[in-house]
Amino acid sequence: MKSLYYLLSLFLFLSACSSVPITGRNQLLLSNESEEVAAGAASYQTFLSEAKISKDAVNSALVKKVGNKIAKISGFNYDWEFTLVENPEANAFCLPGGKVAVYTGILPYTKTEAGLATVMSHEIAHAMARHGAERASQAQILQLGLSVGDSTLTDNPNKDLILQGINVAGNVGIILPYSRKHESEADYMGLILMSKAGYNPNEAVSFWQRMSANSSGSKSSISNFLSTHPTDEKRIKDLQSHLQEALSYYNKK
Ligand SMILES: [Zn+2]
Repeated sequence: MKSLYYLLSLFLFLSACSSVPITGRNQLLLSNESEEVAAGAASYQTFLSEAKISKDAVNSALVKKVGNKIAKISGFNYDWEFTLVENPEANAFCLPGGKVAVYTGILPYTKTEAGLATVMSHEIAHAMARHGAERASQAQILQLGLSVGDSTLTDNPNKDLILQGINVAGNVGIILPYSRKHESEADYMGLILMSKAGYNPNEAVSFWQRMSANSSGSKSSISNFLSTHPTDEKRIKDLQSHLQEALSYYNKK
């Protein structure tokens, strides 16, 4: 097991460490940003070719307007794209490189332009912080740990149990908390982004309260977004705790 830790720490030491915009948190990324951006652009093209682009001119223009305002203050010189897609599911995403899609099914919850800015800035924050790449890197490290463990433990009778333990500990101890951490980081970054773009951050709290109020019914259309974006009390409390800072940016506009 000693060599496992040695190899892992050497690997971590040699890997590129970068920091998340706005929060400054250090993160470990094993992938190359330009490759992520290229993959994001390719996936977006595939997605759009299979999706139904919305013919709602008013809301499509609103998605582009809000997106461009956030992009402008983001400090990221991406080849941004913002598309409204006809889909009853309440969902939205931003692929690496600033490729954003908003589903029409989320509009009844966003309600206002600032509500839409809440969702879009949150998704854009995930992309700016390269959260997807960070989780992929963690999975790679876990995989490396398992394969090193596999070859080191050849003669150990408890090999399978030990490997299973590493896997469970890795998933529960590293990957899951990180995805929750990514959610609250995207909430915070999104709040700052929307405020800098001229949207009242109080509207973010109202949006999540609306989502929360609708999460208890049998509205299966929002279950997908909610499964990755639990609207618990903590999420709303955390957002409220950052309101003062966010308002200081909003009031400067
Ligand atoms: Zn999220």
